[in-house]
Amino acid sequence: MTSSPDLTFNDGNSIPQLGYGVWQVEDDVAEKVVRQAFEAGYRHIDTAKIYGNEAGVGRAIAASGLKPEEIFITTKLWNADQGYESTLEAFEASMDRLGLETLDLYLIHWMQPKQDKYVDTWKALIELQKRGRVKSIGVSNFSKEGLQRLIDESGVVPAIHQIELHPFFNQAELREFNAANGILTQAWSPLGQGGELLSDETIAGIAAKHGATPAQVVIAWHLAIGNVVIPKSVTAERIVENYAALDVTLDEADIAAINGLDRGADGRIGPDPAVSDFA
Ligand code: NAD
Repeated sequence: MTSSPDLTFNDGNSIPQLGYGVWQVEDDVAEKVVRQAFEAGYRHIDTAKIYGNEAGVGRAIAASGLKPEEIFITTKLWNADQGYESTLEAFEASMDRLGLETLDLYLIHWMQPKQDKYVDTWKALIELQKRGRVKSIGVSNFSKEGLQRLIDESGVVPAIHQIELHPFFNQAELREFNAANGILTQAWSPLGQGGELLSDETIAGIAAKHGATPAQVVIAWHLAIGNVVIPKSVTAERIVENYAALDVTLDEADIAAINGLDRGADGRIGPDPAVSDFA
Protein backbone atom coordinates (compact mmCIF):
# COMPACT_ATOMS: atom_id res chain seq x y z
CA MET A 1 0.00 0.00 0.00
CA THR A 2 1.29 3.46 -0.93
CA SER A 3 1.57 5.76 2.08
CA SER A 4 0.98 9.50 2.03
CA PRO A 5 3.93 11.75 1.25
CA ASP A 6 4.78 14.42 3.84
CA LEU A 7 4.90 18.14 3.09
CA THR A 8 7.24 20.37 5.10
CA PHE A 9 6.04 23.43 7.03
CA ASN A 10 7.91 26.73 7.31
CA ASP A 11 8.72 25.73 10.94
CA GLY A 12 10.57 22.56 9.84
CA ASN A 13 7.85 20.08 10.92
CA SER A 14 5.95 18.07 8.34
CA ILE A 15 2.39 16.91 7.68
CA PRO A 16 1.08 13.86 5.79
CA GLN A 17 -0.40 15.36 2.62
CA LEU A 18 -3.47 13.09 2.64
CA GLY A 19 -5.45 13.03 5.88
CA TYR A 20 -8.92 12.19 7.10
CA GLY A 21 -11.54 14.72 8.30
CA VAL A 22 -14.34 14.10 10.80
CA TRP A 23 -16.77 17.03 10.50
CA GLN A 24 -20.41 16.00 11.12
CA VAL A 25 -19.39 12.67 12.64
CA GLU A 26 -20.93 11.78 16.03
CA ASP A 27 -18.45 11.15 18.83
CA ASP A 28 -19.04 7.36 19.06
CA VAL A 29 -18.99 7.02 15.26
CA ALA A 30 -15.76 9.04 15.13
CA GLU A 31 -14.05 6.44 17.31
CA LYS A 32 -15.06 3.68 14.89
CA VAL A 33 -14.25 5.48 11.63
CA VAL A 34 -10.92 6.91 12.82
CA ARG A 35 -9.89 3.36 13.75
CA GLN A 36 -10.89 2.28 10.24
CA ALA A 37 -8.92 5.19 8.79
CA PHE A 38 -5.80 4.16 10.71
CA GLU A 39 -6.25 0.60 9.41
CA ALA A 40 -6.60 1.94 5.86
CA GLY A 41 -3.25 3.72 6.22
CA TYR A 42 -4.18 7.31 7.13
CA ARG A 43 -1.92 8.83 9.80
CA HIS A 44 -3.34 12.37 9.78
CA ILE A 45 -6.70 13.20 11.40
CA ASP A 46 -8.49 16.57 11.23
CA THR A 47 -10.98 17.39 14.01
CA ALA A 48 -12.14 20.53 15.85
CA LYS A 49 -13.70 21.42 19.20
CA ILE A 50 -16.96 22.35 17.45
CA TYR A 51 -17.23 18.91 15.82
CA GLY A 52 -17.92 17.48 19.29
CA ASN A 53 -15.85 14.38 18.58
CA GLU A 54 -12.37 15.09 19.99
CA ALA A 55 -13.00 12.47 22.70
CA GLY A 56 -13.97 9.85 20.12
CA VAL A 57 -10.86 10.67 18.08
CA GLY A 58 -8.84 10.36 21.30
CA ARG A 59 -10.29 6.91 22.03
CA ALA A 60 -9.42 5.79 18.49
CA ILE A 61 -5.85 7.03 18.95
CA ALA A 62 -5.53 5.20 22.28
CA ALA A 63 -6.92 1.98 20.79
CA SER A 64 -4.71 2.16 17.68
CA GLY A 65 -1.48 1.26 19.41
CA LEU A 66 0.21 3.86 17.20
CA LYS A 67 2.89 5.99 18.84
CA PRO A 68 2.39 9.77 18.99
CA GLU A 69 5.28 10.27 16.55
CA GLU A 70 3.55 7.96 14.02
CA ILE A 71 0.39 10.06 13.77
CA PHE A 72 -0.52 13.68 13.04
CA ILE A 73 -3.50 15.23 14.84
CA THR A 74 -5.08 18.62 14.12
CA THR A 75 -7.74 20.34 16.16
CA LYS A 76 -9.16 23.86 15.98
CA LEU A 77 -9.99 26.68 18.35
CA TRP A 78 -13.69 27.59 18.17
CA ASN A 79 -14.89 31.17 17.55
CA ALA A 80 -16.42 31.64 21.02
CA ASP A 81 -13.02 30.83 22.59
CA GLN A 82 -11.06 33.50 20.71
CA GLY A 83 -8.97 35.85 22.91
CA TYR A 84 -5.61 35.26 24.60
CA GLU A 85 -6.51 33.64 27.95
CA SER A 86 -9.60 31.87 26.66
CA THR A 87 -7.51 30.29 23.89
CA LEU A 88 -5.02 28.88 26.40
CA GLU A 89 -7.92 27.38 28.38
CA ALA A 90 -9.75 26.02 25.34
CA PHE A 91 -6.53 24.37 24.15
CA GLU A 92 -6.10 22.45 27.43
CA ALA A 93 -9.73 21.31 27.32
CA SER A 94 -9.23 19.99 23.77
CA MET A 95 -6.06 18.18 24.85
CA ASP A 96 -7.91 16.55 27.75
CA ARG A 97 -10.61 15.29 25.38
CA LEU A 98 -8.03 14.05 22.87
CA GLY A 99 -5.93 12.48 25.62
CA LEU A 100 -2.73 13.86 24.11
CA GLU A 101 0.37 15.41 25.70
CA THR A 102 1.41 17.33 22.61
CA LEU A 103 -0.65 18.37 19.60
CA ASP A 104 0.73 18.34 16.06
CA LEU A 105 -1.29 21.27 14.69
CA TYR A 106 -3.63 23.85 16.26
CA LEU A 107 -5.68 26.12 14.01
CA ILE A 108 -7.82 29.20 14.57
CA HIS A 109 -11.06 27.87 13.05
CA TRP A 110 -12.45 31.13 11.58
CA MET A 111 -11.04 34.65 11.34
CA GLN A 112 -14.27 36.26 12.63
CA PRO A 113 -13.32 39.79 11.52
CA LYS A 114 -16.19 41.50 13.37
CA GLN A 115 -15.12 39.89 16.63
CA ASP A 116 -11.61 41.21 15.90
CA LYS A 117 -9.82 38.96 18.41
CA TYR A 118 -7.79 36.93 15.98
CA VAL A 119 -4.45 38.70 16.56
CA ASP A 120 -4.60 38.08 20.34
CA THR A 121 -5.75 34.54 19.64
CA TRP A 122 -2.79 34.03 17.32
CA LYS A 123 -0.44 35.32 20.04
CA ALA A 124 -1.81 32.62 22.37
CA LEU A 125 -1.07 29.97 19.72
CA ILE A 126 2.49 31.33 19.44
CA GLU A 127 2.81 31.01 23.25
CA LEU A 128 1.51 27.41 23.16
CA GLN A 129 4.09 26.59 20.52
CA LYS A 130 6.87 28.22 22.61
CA ARG A 131 5.79 26.13 25.60
CA GLY A 132 6.05 22.98 23.46
CA ARG A 133 2.34 22.12 23.86
CA VAL A 134 1.76 22.27 20.11
CA LYS A 135 4.30 21.57 17.39
CA SER A 136 2.83 23.70 14.61
CA ILE A 137 0.28 26.50 14.44
CA GLY A 138 -1.89 27.75 11.63
CA VAL A 139 -5.23 29.22 10.66
CA SER A 140 -8.38 28.30 8.81
CA ASN A 141 -10.83 30.51 6.94
CA PHE A 142 -8.85 33.75 6.74
CA SER A 143 -8.77 36.43 4.06
CA LYS A 144 -5.48 37.59 2.56
CA GLU A 145 -5.80 40.83 4.53
CA GLY A 146 -6.35 38.99 7.81
CA LEU A 147 -3.36 36.74 7.19
CA GLN A 148 -1.17 39.71 6.33
CA ARG A 149 -2.23 41.43 9.55
CA LEU A 150 -1.34 38.36 11.64
CA ILE A 151 2.08 38.21 10.04
CA ASP A 152 2.70 41.97 10.41
CA GLU A 153 1.56 42.18 14.03
CA SER A 154 3.18 38.99 15.34
CA GLY A 155 6.14 38.34 13.05
CA VAL A 156 5.09 34.67 12.95
CA VAL A 157 3.85 33.19 9.68
CA PRO A 158 1.20 30.44 10.00
CA ALA A 159 2.43 26.99 8.92
CA ILE A 160 -0.77 26.22 7.04
CA HIS A 161 -4.04 27.81 5.92
CA GLN A 162 -7.06 25.49 5.78
CA ILE A 163 -9.69 26.80 3.36
CA GLU A 164 -12.68 25.65 1.33
CA LEU A 165 -11.14 24.32 -1.88
CA HIS A 166 -12.38 21.91 -4.57
CA PRO A 167 -12.47 21.95 -8.38
CA PHE A 168 -15.59 24.20 -8.51
CA PHE A 169 -13.89 26.70 -6.15
CA ASN A 170 -10.18 26.26 -6.65
CA GLN A 171 -8.97 29.36 -4.82
CA ALA A 172 -6.06 30.02 -7.22
CA GLU A 173 -5.47 33.52 -5.84
CA LEU A 174 -5.45 32.55 -2.16
CA ARG A 175 -3.28 29.49 -2.91
CA GLU A 176 -0.81 31.79 -4.61
CA PHE A 177 -0.80 34.19 -1.65
CA ASN A 178 -0.26 31.29 0.77
CA ALA A 179 2.61 29.91 -1.30
CA ALA A 180 4.25 33.32 -1.68
CA ASN A 181 4.31 33.56 2.11
CA GLY A 182 5.60 30.01 2.72
CA ILE A 183 2.20 28.84 4.00
CA LEU A 184 0.89 25.40 2.96
CA THR A 185 -2.68 25.29 1.65
CA GLN A 186 -5.05 22.70 3.09
CA ALA A 187 -8.33 21.94 1.34
CA TRP A 188 -11.56 21.51 3.29
CA SER A 189 -14.64 20.01 1.63
CA PRO A 190 -12.14 18.75 -0.96
CA LEU A 191 -14.82 16.59 -2.62
CA GLY A 192 -17.29 19.47 -2.69
CA GLN A 193 -19.15 17.57 0.05
CA GLY A 194 -19.82 14.76 -2.40
CA GLY A 195 -22.54 16.46 -4.46
CA GLU A 196 -22.59 17.57 -8.08
CA LEU A 197 -18.79 17.52 -8.34
CA LEU A 198 -18.58 13.72 -8.12
CA SER A 199 -21.03 13.31 -11.01
CA ASP A 200 -19.35 15.95 -13.20
CA GLU A 201 -18.70 14.71 -16.78
CA THR A 202 -15.11 15.95 -16.99
CA ILE A 203 -14.23 14.19 -13.73
CA ALA A 204 -16.04 11.03 -14.94
CA GLY A 205 -14.05 11.04 -18.20
CA ILE A 206 -10.73 11.34 -16.39
CA ALA A 207 -11.80 8.63 -13.92
CA ALA A 208 -12.62 6.25 -16.79
CA LYS A 209 -9.27 6.97 -18.44
CA HIS A 210 -7.35 6.03 -15.27
CA GLY A 211 -9.61 3.19 -14.08
CA ALA A 212 -10.24 5.28 -10.96
CA THR A 213 -13.34 6.63 -9.21
CA PRO A 214 -14.43 10.30 -9.39
CA ALA A 215 -13.51 10.83 -5.72
CA GLN A 216 -10.04 9.41 -6.36
CA VAL A 217 -9.55 11.74 -9.34
CA VAL A 218 -10.50 14.79 -7.27
CA ILE A 219 -8.18 13.75 -4.43
CA ALA A 220 -5.38 13.05 -6.94
CA TRP A 221 -5.88 16.58 -8.36
CA HIS A 222 -5.49 18.10 -4.87
CA LEU A 223 -2.30 16.08 -4.32
CA ALA A 224 -0.93 17.06 -7.74
CA ILE A 225 -1.42 20.80 -7.17
CA GLY A 226 0.26 20.64 -3.75
CA ASN A 227 -2.70 20.83 -1.38
CA VAL A 228 -2.89 19.05 1.93
CA VAL A 229 -6.24 17.28 1.64
CA ILE A 230 -8.62 15.77 4.23
CA PRO A 231 -11.57 13.99 2.58
CA LYS A 232 -14.29 12.64 4.85
CA SER A 233 -16.32 9.47 4.58
CA VAL A 234 -17.96 7.29 7.21
CA THR A 235 -18.23 4.34 4.80
CA ALA A 236 -15.47 1.75 5.27
CA GLU A 237 -15.03 1.07 1.52
CA ARG A 238 -14.83 4.78 0.69
CA ILE A 239 -12.31 5.41 3.47
CA VAL A 240 -10.08 2.82 1.74
CA GLU A 241 -10.97 4.07 -1.77
CA ASN A 242 -10.06 7.67 -0.92
CA TYR A 243 -6.67 6.68 0.51
CA ALA A 244 -5.94 4.66 -2.64
CA ALA A 245 -6.10 7.94 -4.60
CA LEU A 246 -2.38 8.07 -3.76
CA ASP A 247 -1.92 5.52 -6.56
CA VAL A 248 -3.69 7.69 -9.18
CA THR A 249 -1.33 9.91 -11.17
CA LEU A 250 -2.95 12.57 -13.33
CA ASP A 251 -1.24 14.02 -16.40
CA GLU A 252 -0.99 17.71 -17.26
CA ALA A 253 -4.04 17.61 -19.53
CA ASP A 254 -6.16 16.08 -16.73
CA ILE A 255 -5.01 18.75 -14.28
CA ALA A 256 -5.71 21.54 -16.79
CA ALA A 257 -9.20 20.15 -17.47
CA ILE A 258 -10.00 20.01 -13.73
CA ASN A 259 -8.58 23.51 -13.24
CA GLY A 260 -11.06 24.59 -15.92
CA LEU A 261 -14.05 23.55 -13.76
CA ASP A 262 -13.57 26.53 -11.42
CA ARG A 263 -16.71 28.68 -10.99
CA GLY A 264 -15.09 31.44 -8.99
CA ALA A 265 -17.13 32.76 -6.07
CA ASP A 266 -20.23 30.96 -7.44
CA GLY A 267 -18.53 27.66 -6.60
CA ARG A 268 -18.29 28.42 -2.89
CA ILE A 269 -20.36 26.12 -0.64
CA GLY A 270 -19.63 27.54 2.82
CA PRO A 271 -19.48 31.03 4.33
CA ASP A 272 -17.04 33.70 3.07
CA PRO A 273 -14.43 34.10 5.85
CA ALA A 274 -13.89 37.78 5.00
CA VAL A 275 -17.39 38.61 6.25
CA SER A 276 -18.70 35.57 8.13
CA ASP A 277 -19.60 36.12 11.76
CA PHE A 278 -21.13 33.30 13.76
CA ALA A 279 -20.92 31.85 17.24
P1 NAD B 1 -15.85 16.34 1.65
O1 NAD B 1 -15.67 17.27 0.53
O2 NAD B 1 -14.69 15.57 2.18
O3 NAD B 1 -17.04 15.37 1.26
C1 NAD B 1 -17.48 14.35 2.12
C2 NAD B 1 -18.69 13.65 1.51
O4 NAD B 1 -18.37 13.20 0.20
C3 NAD B 1 -19.08 12.41 2.29
O5 NAD B 1 -19.93 12.72 3.35
C4 NAD B 1 -19.76 11.57 1.22
O6 NAD B 1 -21.08 11.99 1.04
C5 NAD B 1 -18.96 11.93 -0.02
N1 NAD B 1 -17.87 10.98 -0.30
C6 NAD B 1 -16.70 10.81 0.37
N2 NAD B 1 -15.94 9.87 -0.22
C7 NAD B 1 -16.63 9.44 -1.29
C8 NAD B 1 -16.35 8.49 -2.29
N3 NAD B 1 -15.22 7.80 -2.30
N4 NAD B 1 -17.30 8.30 -3.25
C9 NAD B 1 -18.45 9.00 -3.26
N5 NAD B 1 -18.76 9.92 -2.34
C10 NAD B 1 -17.85 10.15 -1.36
O7 NAD B 1 -16.58 17.18 2.82
P2 NAD B 1 -16.30 17.72 4.27
O8 NAD B 1 -16.54 16.70 5.28
O9 NAD B 1 -17.08 18.98 4.33
O10 NAD B 1 -14.76 18.14 4.29
C11 NAD B 1 -13.73 17.25 4.69
C12 NAD B 1 -13.13 17.69 6.01
O11 NAD B 1 -12.67 19.04 5.95
C13 NAD B 1 -14.13 17.72 7.18
O12 NAD B 1 -14.47 16.43 7.63
C14 NAD B 1 -13.38 18.56 8.17
O13 NAD B 1 -12.35 17.80 8.79
C15 NAD B 1 -12.76 19.62 7.25
N6 NAD B 1 -13.60 20.84 7.18
C16 NAD B 1 -13.11 21.98 7.75
C17 NAD B 1 -13.84 23.15 7.71
C18 NAD B 1 -13.29 24.39 8.31
O14 NAD B 1 -14.03 25.35 8.50
N7 NAD B 1 -12.01 24.43 8.62
C19 NAD B 1 -15.11 23.18 7.11
C20 NAD B 1 -15.59 22.00 6.52
C21 NAD B 1 -14.83 20.85 6.55
